[in-house]
Amino acid sequence: MAFTTKMLINGKLVDGDRTLEVKDPATRDTVAVVACASESQALAAVAAAKVAQPDWERLGWNARAQLLLAYADAIQQRAPELAEAMVREQGKPLAEAQGEVSYTEAFVRHFAGLTLPVEVIQNDDKGRIEVMRKALGVVVGISPWNFPALVPAAKLAPAILAGNTVVLKPAPTTPICALMLGEIAQSIFPAGVVNVVTDQNDLGSLLTSHPDVAKVTFTGSTATGRKIMANGSATLKRLTLELGGNDAAIVLDDVAVEAVADKIYQAAFYNAGQACLAIKRVYAHRAIYSTLCDAIAARASAAISGHGLEQSTQIGPIQNAAQFAKAKHYISAGEREGQIIAGGTVVEGKGFFVRPTVVRNIEDGSELVDQEQFSPVLPIIRIADAEDGLARANRSEYGLGGSVWSSDAARARSIAARLQSGTVWVNQHLSFGPNIPFAGAKQSGIGVEWTEHGLAEFTQLSVVNESY
Ligand code: NAD
Repeated sequence: MAFTTKMLINGKLVDGDRTLEVKDPATRDTVAVVACASESQALAAVAAAKVAQPDWERLGWNARAQLLLAYADAIQQRAPELAEAMVREQGKPLAEAQGEVSYTEAFVRHFAGLTLPVEVIQNDDKGRIEVMRKALGVVVGISPWNFPALVPAAKLAPAILAGNTVVLKPAPTTPICALMLGEIAQSIFPAGVVNVVTDQNDLGSLLTSHPDVAKVTFTGSTATGRKIMANGSATLKRLTLELGGNDAAIVLDDVAVEAVADKIYQAAFYNAGQACLAIKRVYAHRAIYSTLCDAIAARASAAISGHGLEQSTQIGPIQNAAQFAKAKHYISAGEREGQIIAGGTVVEGKGFFVRPTVVRNIEDGSELVDQEQFSPVLPIIRIADAEDGLARANRSEYGLGGSVWSSDAARARSIAARLQSGTVWVNQHLSFGPNIPFAGAKQSGIGVEWTEHGLAEFTQLSVVNESY
């Protein structure tokens, strides 16, 4: 299949002044050579967004929402193509890619139905006070490589619904889905409203420090989030930062081990462990420690690794070379500081494959436990009791998600209430949707995404205060 290779700048699909070679992480074969922006093309995208913004805002909420709905329909029509591109550039199994594409459409459709009505807080013979929300201007959306369609679309939709215009910049190893979203947008939105540019990991600073950019919405690592905050400080840019995580699952002694092992395995190894909201460390009560370790290890050992387009594949490759090196590094840490009971090996061949790996008899203080491994390498730590698990889970600079597993709802809830993370699940992990707000605590982020809470972050609150 020939995929989109062109960028969208000012309503036109254009070649780049440079090119970017996209590799299939399962084979390292070239999937496509796509456009890559020069600095002047990135600046042209910001300039086009700036020119287009006032008319787009004037068009009105309902008209913008109608166009977003048309956009959701068009994404649905191109869903098979998007899913295949996603597997080829990102590596995830086709069923996971299809799931991401249907979420991409669902997020756009959900946003199209949201409003932020004017609030009248006083209206009497003395005066009238209205609180309204206005667009900010040009929004830059920067995304990582793990969810190449959902993350850009979930930034685009609320930004433009609120009357802003956008410049999207995907990760250099997975640009094709974002370029396709740009191509689809070209036939629906006026020129300049949506722009998509790619880079070689070198245009982020230019875009996030540009004086004509009012807001940056970023998903990626905490280290890059810090740079973006620094870059935005000169012009006090509005920021939404969805950053790294090191989600803990605290498993109490009253669980049904086999059923819980299924869910924990899925939530840890989904997308080969490369999900911000994946379980990255398991704290298991000593009473069920060994049986849970064995049950999760059995699932990891049985998992079928392969190319995402093969029907039998349950776990795909690591997405890129740097991340592959990281995964191997964390396997070595597991070997040194714990006991590997499943996986621990690289699959022979050209692709970036490691077997799903489970490590027991490991402690806090190991880099595999303390850092965000973002790989299919799961440490399981023995805890004395629920309080011990809670204290260990909270001893982290991150606070994206966390979960408590117990058959006693009251017991689970009392631990859940004290977990320091933006999302806390009970007896599940990784469940999310456009109707659920998403925020990171501590150094996992700033701001909120999705729902009206997230939509409001693409607006400026403005008060009209009249006196009679
Ligand atoms: P990354 O921070 O290296 O890159 C993310 C994006 O930022 C890429 O598009 C990259 O080109 C761009 N970038 C790089 N330097 C930049 C700079 N100086 N200024 C602006 N942009 C710059 O992250 P990654 O390795 O692509 O993704 C993995 C990370 O993303 C993990 O830490 C993961 O937890 C995080 N993540 C978070 C969420 C969330 O919602 N919290 C979701 C997915 C991924």
